[in-house]
Amino acid sequence: MEPLKTAMSETLAAAHDGPATPKLPRISFEFFPPKTAEMEASLWETIKRLAPLHPTFVSVTYGAGGSTRERTHATIARILKETDLLPAAHLTCVGAARGEIDEIVERYYETGVRHIVALRGDPAGGLGTPYEPHPDGYRGAIELVAGIKRLHADIEVSVSAYPEKHPEARDFAVDLDVLKAKVDAGASRAITQCFFDNDLYHRYVDQVRARGIEIPIVPGIMPMHNFKQARNFVTRAGTTVPDWLAEKFEGLDDDPETRKLVAAAVAAGQVQKLHKHGVDNFHFYTMNRADLVFAISHLLGLRPAAGQKAA
Ligand SMILES: Cc1cc2nc3c(=O)[nH]c(=O)nc-3n(C[C@H](O)[C@H](O)[C@H](O)COP(=O)(O)OP(=O)(O)OC[C@H]3O[C@@H](n4cnc5c(N)ncnc54)[C@H](O)[C@@H]3O)c2cc1C
Repeated sequence: MEPLKTAMSETLAAAHDGPATPKLPRISFEFFPPKTAEMEASLWETIKRLAPLHPTFVSVTYGAGGSTRERTHATIARILKETDLLPAAHLTCVGAARGEIDEIVERYYETGVRHIVALRGDPAGGLGTPYEPHPDGYRGAIELVAGIKRLHADIEVSVSAYPEKHPEARDFAVDLDVLKAKVDAGASRAITQCFFDNDLYHRYVDQVRARGIEIPIVPGIMPMHNFKQARNFVTRAGTTVPDWLAEKFEGLDDDPETRKLVAAAVAAGQVQKLHKHGVDNFHFYTMNRADLVFAISHLLGLRPAAGQKAA
């Protein structure tokens, strides 16, 4: 039980350590489009639970190579119709001609969407294989951002950022150049790949600022609902999972309840420490589940009180 005790005490220490943090943070939530009616019902329970926390926006991912094109659109359209949340549609340009992508953007625009998370997408052959742009397509996120802005300058565009660099990037300098180019093309916010060591994020933001990039670099926070599964997934995308984190989940393979408490404690500790360092904007990878993210937001001071708006 030692790992649990350590995680909990860190969280409690972060919660009670020193003066209250200056202002309520802004939060956003990421969902994935549900595959089945059952998953859709569960996503909507999650949305209803999280909506009163007044996120700045909620985003819906886009499956590799456009595999969820219709489901992403349907989820976004329902959010617009049935809630007062501001949806952001993820869009990748892998495997599609410019015309197809432009049509998707136009359809979103007509539906009322004014925020797109613009991404290149993973190579069609999977991570680790070379990326081949579609012969008539946008070659990557930089061109995609410019393409969206050319179609509709009033669409807000967010992009990705990698505190541990993108696995394909030769070095940090290239990645920072790419981020700068995405900003020059019109991106106004970057959301990071998840990370578990806050120093990586702080160092990265220092490098980004030194490169002359001024847009918000919003930390992407992933509560590890299922540690083993999540570790495989995030490691492939270039995130380091530190030994201390693995130790906290040791011996809990058959104990989902305790795993959940540990995951909430770890992520709450991470965001509270970032908040103390002045970070006031968080993007949560919810995995379509409300419980952990709701608890973590609560620990950040956010309450579902009617009319409460984050700073
Ligand atoms: C917040 C977030 C949300 C995501 N959502 C989705 C999603 O919904 N669907 C999905 O399929 N994937 C998603 N991804 C994953 C993303 O698609 C992959 O990480 C993909 O491999 C890279 O896409 P990107 O837009 O980050 O690429 P980019 O930022 O364009 O960069 C990719 C790599 O190519 C290099 N590069 C790019 N342009 C150049 C150039 N001109 N010269 C040299 N090197 C270059 C960069 O340095 C980097 O190494 C998301 C990632 C993040 C962080």
